[in-house]
Amino acid sequence: MKFKKLIICIFSSACVIAQAEIHGYPDGPKLPGVTYSVHDPARPQPPAVMTGGAVTVKPPSDAIVLFDGTSLDAWSPGFILKDGLMIAAAKDVDTKQSFGAVQLHIEWKLPAGRPINGQGGGNSGIFLMGLYEVQVLQSYQNPTYPDGQAGSMYGQLPPLVNATSPQGEWQSYDLTFEPPVYEGEKVIKPAKLSLFHNGVCLQNGESYLGPTQHKVLAKYPPKHPLTGPIRLQWHNDPVEFRNIWVRPLGSRP
Ligand code: MG
Repeated sequence: MKFKKLIICIFSSACVIAQAEIHGYPDGPKLPGVTYSVHDPARPQPPAVMTGGAVTVKPPSDAIVLFDGTSLDAWSPGFILKDGLMIAAAKDVDTKQSFGAVQLHIEWKLPAGRPINGQGGGNSGIFLMGLYEVQVLQSYQNPTYPDGQAGSMYGQLPPLVNATSPQGEWQSYDLTFEPPVYEGEKVIKPAKLSLFHNGVCLQNGESYLGPTQHKVLAKYPPKHPLTGPIRLQWHNDPVEFRNIWVRPLGSRP
């Protein structure tokens, strides 16, 4: 009897430890300027911030509406239109139009009740120029490697804080993105991102190390397009989207 109790005790302790473990890749390549590696589970978790949820911003008059609940015409095939929502399915989708520097507004939600665990269950992403991922992840009380949580510059930089709403609630991203600037084959200015999640600043003009990679240190290629599509990621999870619009950012007249 005592032996049985001991076994149960050992088993449940192991379960507790397993639950507390953060999924990640402890042996990834080192990131420059910090002591952490790509997808480092030991990197400190950004503090959680409660927000008022999605900040809905109607498209301004000069915006290009990418989704208003009525049509998926602005996108390549893959996602589903249902009940006025654009739902991730089948494969990644790209805008038919290409963009360089932009302001983007997008709202997203993971339906309540769907099981989530770290990177699984509630994962999508927004790829600027089809290359630079802003992670979409149901990160409310769902720890994962910090450079892979909601609002991270995936595999490169965690958000300043975790502003994720509880599952089943709408959330918003407002961002600006600038492509890298090249002189010949040399990058003289990296790609930059500012990001607000539910109105809270997560990335404040931060630089990308290069196009997004998984388990690999990102770097800039010698040749880079000037524009590219905005891509929404299909990561096997039915993340829902609404109210998506973009404003190309030009120079002052
Ligand atoms: Mg993703």
